[in-house]
Amino acid sequence: MERTTETALRACDRHKCFFVADAHFDLLPLILKKRLKGRTKVIETDYLPSLREGGVDLVISSLFVENAFLPEQALRNALDQIAALHEELEESPGLFTLCRNTSEIVAAKERGELAILLSFEGVEPLGSDLGLLRVFHELGVRGVGITWSRRNHAADGCFFKPVDEGRKGGLTDFGVRLLREAARLGMYLDVSHLNDEGLADVFAFHDGPVLASHSNCRSLAGTMRNLTDAQIRTLASRGGMMGMNVCSTFVGDAEHATMTAVELADHVDHIRDLAGTQAVGFGFDFCDEMRDFSGPGPFVNYDCIKGHSNASLLTEQLLLRGYAEQEIENILGGNLMRFLRAAIG
Ligand SMILES: [Zn+2]
Repeated sequence: MERTTETALRACDRHKCFFVADAHFDLLPLILKKRLKGRTKVIETDYLPSLREGGVDLVISSLFVENAFLPEQALRNALDQIAALHEELEESPGLFTLCRNTSEIVAAKERGELAILLSFEGVEPLGSDLGLLRVFHELGVRGVGITWSRRNHAADGCFFKPVDEGRKGGLTDFGVRLLREAARLGMYLDVSHLNDEGLADVFAFHDGPVLASHSNCRSLAGTMRNLTDAQIRTLASRGGMMGMNVCSTFVGDAEHATMTAVELADHVDHIRDLAGTQAVGFGFDFCDEMRDFSGPGPFVNYDCIKGHSNASLLTEQLLLRGYAEQEIENILGGNLMRFLRAAIG
């Protein structure tokens, strides 16, 4: 649908002129899967056109390992994901680049290339070997998402909704050493998917800012994947920030209403009221590509904004609600860059 209202055009324009960053996208797992089926130039063909349409300059890609590979194949699968990226870099020169710090991100934008930064989404590839963190750092990985929604050697992940389980835990001793080694190496911590006990431990054992790359507000959508008001205040008071997630069940009661950018913008308002706009960014986590919509529905889990090419729908809402130009610029990417500059240089 072509968007022609004045505010829609202004929003698109902001995406063209401001630095735009998405703090969470499963790019590497997706390209590895497609390459294993014989595809090449996957980023160039399947993702770059949409990213460019949305004016996106930086994508943080997860290194995410599916349950089927755990535990034995986790390391192999993570390395295969990085290998797949390098093959893509060779096949599509001058279009995107793997960045290790903020000066490389800025330089990529100046060259007109998409900047890609890598982050664990669960440290399963390390197993119980903390020495491997340095190896991944050498490979360019800069983010340490401690868990996905499952238990690992470092911590307990939170589930998407309550399940039958025994008593939950916080960080393990390995998890505490992981925080310290990550800080020593100049890697940042990502607490999305971590359970409440683990997040409290991160705040207790780690002084610096942390990122919740793709989590919304629990007081607006009551899933454990979202952050409580108290967690948001603490995260923000330490210079951290959170990326707004388009998944319908993290946005609101998707069983009873259709979620859109309007409801997602309510989360931005809520964080602004709690902690200020410097704590907000994008972490869209577009997942519709991986979902099966072939049945009769209704579907509870879907992306409330459809892909990077429509990312400015959220910005349009912020413009309509009177956010200042500087606030918009910061939410689009300035806040994430400020966080990264402090955490990884
Ligand atoms: Zn995730």
